[in-house]
Amino acid sequence: MHHRNTKIIFTIGPATDKPEMLRALIREGVDICRINMAHAPREELSGIVARVREAGRDVGRDIAIMVDIKGPEIRTGEVEEPLQLKKGDRLDFACAEDTQEKQDIPLIDVNYPGLINDLEEGSSILVDNGLMRFKVLKKTARRLHCEVEIGGKMGSRRHINLPGTRVSIPALTKKDFLDIESSLEAGVDFFAQSFVREPEDVETFRRVLSEKGSSARIIAKIEDQQAITNLDDIIRASDGLMVARGDLGIECPYEDLPVIQKRAVSTCIQLRKPAIVATHMLESMIENPVPTRAEVSDITYAVAERTDAIMLSGETTVGKYPLDCVRVFKRIAETTEKLDNPATRLPLDLRNPKSKLVRSAANLAEDVEGACVIVFTRAGNIPQTLSSLRPTSTPIYAFTDQPHLVPQMRLIRGVEPFLVEFAGEREVTIQSAFRLLIERGHVEVGSWAVLITTVLRRRRIVDGLQLRQVEPQD
Ligand code: PEP
Repeated sequence: MHHRNTKIIFTIGPATDKPEMLRALIREGVDICRINMAHAPREELSGIVARVREAGRDVGRDIAIMVDIKGPEIRTGEVEEPLQLKKGDRLDFACAEDTQEKQDIPLIDVNYPGLINDLEEGSSILVDNGLMRFKVLKKTARRLHCEVEIGGKMGSRRHINLPGTRVSIPALTKKDFLDIESSLEAGVDFFAQSFVREPEDVETFRRVLSEKGSSARIIAKIEDQQAITNLDDIIRASDGLMVARGDLGIECPYEDLPVIQKRAVSTCIQLRKPAIVATHMLESMIENPVPTRAEVSDITYAVAERTDAIMLSGETTVGKYPLDCVRVFKRIAETTEKLDNPATRLPLDLRNPKSKLVRSAANLAEDVEGACVIVFTRAGNIPQTLSSLRPTSTPIYAFTDQPHLVPQMRLIRGVEPFLVEFAGEREVTIQSAFRLLIERGHVEVGSWAVLITTVLRRRRIVDGLQLRQVEPQD
C-alpha cells in the first residue's frame, strides 16, 4: 500500500454531507472533516458528527473531526437596498446606536462598538473580503466619517477587515461559547480557533476546554498581522496552526503570503506542532473538473515545504467535484513527496536523550530500504517528534491504547494511528501491531521495521530501539 505523508482535510457542506459521499471521501483518503461554524447551523452539528463517524465505521477507517469556531468577526449591518459606491464618495460607519438625523451621506451600522477606539484617522477599512476600501477621515463619538477609496456594492452583513489595526474585541463570542458547548456534546477531536491574535487567545480557549474536561486539541488560525508578529508564541500555546490564507491575504499584502506560509510551516516543524495550509487551494474546481496550473504549483509548494496537511473549503462544501479535488490533492502530494530531498531539511533542535533516540530511529529507518517506524504512545509526543524530523518515505505507525488520540494523530504528517490494547508484556503488543499492519496491508512479512520501545526495569523505564523484520502471524 502506498503511504502518503501529507494529510487531507475537507470541509463538509451541502455537497458532501450525505452518507454515500462521506464514505466515498473516506475511501479516497481524507483524514479530517472540518465543520465551519461560520456556516453550519448549530442544531445540525450532532447529526453531522454522527454521520461522519458512521461513514468511518462503514469504511473501516475513522477520520478526525475539527470544528472551526468563528471567533470575533466584525460585520456591517443591514441595508434596505444594496448601495452602489464609487471612489471619492462619502460614507459613515455607525459603531453605536445612532440617533442623529440621517443625512445625505449613507450610514452603515457595524456590529462592534470598539471600532471607534481601535481605528485612527487615516486608517483603512476593508469590506466584503477586501473588495471595497474606505479611509477614515474623521472620528466622532459614535461615527467614523469615511471616504470611498475603492467602490463597489455594499450589501447587508458584509465582512470587515482592518489591516494593521490592533483590534480589542474578545477572542470568543457568545455564539462561540454555544458552538463549543454543542461540539463537546457531539464529541469532536479538534477545534480550529479563528482570528487568534496572541497566545492569550489560545490560553482562554484552553481554559474553557479544561473546565469542561475536554482533551480536544486547539488549532490556531492565523489571519492577521498581529498573529504574524506573535507567530512563535501562538504556535507554542496551541496544538497546531492553520495558515488561513483567505483573511490573511486581505489583512497582509498578498505578496507577503508565500513568505508567511513558509515561515509558519517551518516554525511549526521546529516547535513540533502540526501545520495546515488552507484556502483557495483548488478554488477553480468549485466549478471545473480540473485544476488550474497555478493551483497545481501552489499545492506542490505547500507539500514541498513539508506541511502536515492541506485543506479544502468551498471545493467540498458547495463545489461540483469534491471527490476529484481529493484525487488531485493525492496525485500532487504523492508526486511531490517522492522528490523530497533530505539535504534541504533543517536540523531539529532536540535536547533530551529520549528525543535523540527518536532521531536515531528516524535516521535508521531512512537508511534501511523500505523500513517503517513503529512506536507505542500514550500522549502522542514521540510520533510528533518523529514526524517533525520529516523522514522521507518512512511511514510512522503509531499504536496507542488511548481512543481519543487515534483521530488526533491523523493530523500529524506521515503518521498512521492505530488503537491497540497494551499487554503487560511488550512483545505481545508488538505482535498485535505486526498483525494489524499485515491485515490492513501496510507492511509485508519480512519487511523491515524500526521499533521504539520501553520496558520497565526495577520500576524504571528503559528506552530501546529494535531493528527487526515483520514476523508472520498465525
Ligand atoms: C481563511 O480565512 O482562510 C479561513 C480558513 O477561514 P474561514 O474559512 O473561516 O473564513
